[in-house]
Amino acid sequence: MTTLLITHPACLDHLVPSGHPERPDRLRAVDRALEAETFQTLARELAPMASLENIALCHPMDYIVGIRDASPKQGMIQLDGDTSMSPGSYEAALRAVGGGILAVDEVVSRKAANAFVATRPPGHHAETARPMGFCFFDNAAIAARHAQRQHGIGRVAIVDFDVHHGNGSQEIFWADKSVMYCSTHQMPLFPGTGAVGESGDYNTIVNAPLRPGDGAEKFRGAFEDRILPRLDEFKPELVIISAGFDAHRRDPLANINLVEDDFAWATLKLMDVADRHAGGRVVSLLEGGYDLQGLANSAAAHVSALMRG
Ligand SMILES: [Zn+2]
Repeated sequence: MTTLLITHPACLDHLVPSGHPERPDRLRAVDRALEAETFQTLARELAPMASLENIALCHPMDYIVGIRDASPKQGMIQLDGDTSMSPGSYEAALRAVGGGILAVDEVVSRKAANAFVATRPPGHHAETARPMGFCFFDNAAIAARHAQRQHGIGRVAIVDFDVHHGNGSQEIFWADKSVMYCSTHQMPLFPGTGAVGESGDYNTIVNAPLRPGDGAEKFRGAFEDRILPRLDEFKPELVIISAGFDAHRRDPLANINLVEDDFAWATLKLMDVADRHAGGRVVSLLEGGYDLQGLANSAAAHVSALMRG
């Protein structure tokens, strides 16, 4: 079995104001990196558009319809200070959700060993009924819920190494003991959540904040001391990665000093967890990463690690 790469050119049509970090060139950089010779054995599929029913696994229908109806025919509208919509944004958001759903379908049915979904907009800041931080729908959360509802999977772990805390994923699964949410992230930093004491109603939220200036040692320590033992106790039947690469040392939005190898290391550790408990099933979704070179190199290292599975 091979690693599956899911993407779609429509995700380039989610346009943002000039100077905005979450821009189409991010995806172009990832696409270009994954065109290299070493990635020729990847299986490749286009991300389908999710149905509204798919998205309603985690968001109320009136919220979804509100996002759809807010789509401008031309120009751009702001949903909040960070989050805007252009005419192509809604389709891009549907394909970002749909990519995660297809990845779950292909990995759970053993058509692919694991999968990486390179789409945008990202998802982990979107709360149940609030767009936030460049995100409209929580792609990873919906993928987790889809695995449960469509495929009968019981326990799902979402592991989020984006440098920002995934407040949306935490909020969606706060009172749900069937989904463990684990996160490393810089604190203090946007969105401000993710303290160690935030552990959910069933102690299935695992936050491992890092300090500005931390690097590989603290990041790997957070995984080895906090996150990996909790995952082994939880025994997930599917591991979903919220793969943001903005903890890279080159990233302009944060101050964590990781390099490509650190993301590969974390990926391999999570694949080990999946091998122990989940039949190796790993689905990874792109979240942030705003330095084009750091993002491209890190995504390549991440996918290379997945291909060793
Ligand atoms: Zn981020």
